[in-house]
Amino acid sequence: MAAPFSDEGIVLRRRAFGDADRILVVLTKDHGKLSVMAKGLRRARARNAAGMDLLARSQLQLIPGRSLAVLAQARPIGPIAGAADPVRLACASVLAELVDATVEEGHPEPRVYEILAEASARIGSPAADPRLALALAAFALAAAGGYQPELTICAACGRELENRDGRFVPTLGGVVQGQCETGVEGLSCSAVTLRVLRRIAAADESTVLRLRWSPQLRDELQAILIAHLEHHLDRPIKAARVLVELSADSAITS
Ligand SMILES: [Zn+2]
Repeated sequence: MAAPFSDEGIVLRRRAFGDADRILVVLTKDHGKLSVMAKGLRRARARNAAGMDLLARSQLQLIPGRSLAVLAQARPIGPIAGAADPVRLACASVLAELVDATVEEGHPEPRVYEILAEASARIGSPAADPRLALALAAFALAAAGGYQPELTICAACGRELENRDGRFVPTLGGVVQGQCETGVEGLSCSAVTLRVLRRIAAADESTVLRLRWSPQLRDELQAILIAHLEHHLDRPIKAARVLVELSADSAITS
């Protein structure tokens, strides 16, 4: 049998396997994305269950296998990102789905791991707004992958963007203003949303995480972010629908 190895990892995806087992997709720090067989994880009081929730960060002991590594042990590090709060869980799910969709198996991705670890801690922390933590992480991933949206010049004509309302056009990967808004399919991008998007894109974390936002700003920013990511991935982010529904619910109650 191959020698076990240890690595730190964050859970991106979980699915049931047989009656008692789960197959997990985990982004590890040093070995990249791996599929991991977790035996007995679906049983009540399973030994390693605590470290195996979505976006949970754990120190793992793994045994290499022919197609899957087998989990020998998981020891959680830090809080669980989604714990018991539907918005935090939805943000954790969007981030996990995004990373899973952009990372190939078996290649170390140290920058992606760093972004994910930081975001998972923030999404789990009651002090941070999970949507802002998600937005910062998504933009950092876009920067790492070279697909940040264009927020400086008009994505249609190249003229410098002004401090005014415009539209975000996913197919152009950026914001258009003025005459360029005529006849394009896009999402509303108010002047304040553009300013916040620029702060997020610049990874100005201290400003962004202190932000107090209106439901309108939150919904605009969220819609733009999701549309940009889905256009880049060329597929829907399933977990994003849950986040949008939760926003609609909170708009009714507040
Ligand atoms: Zn223009």
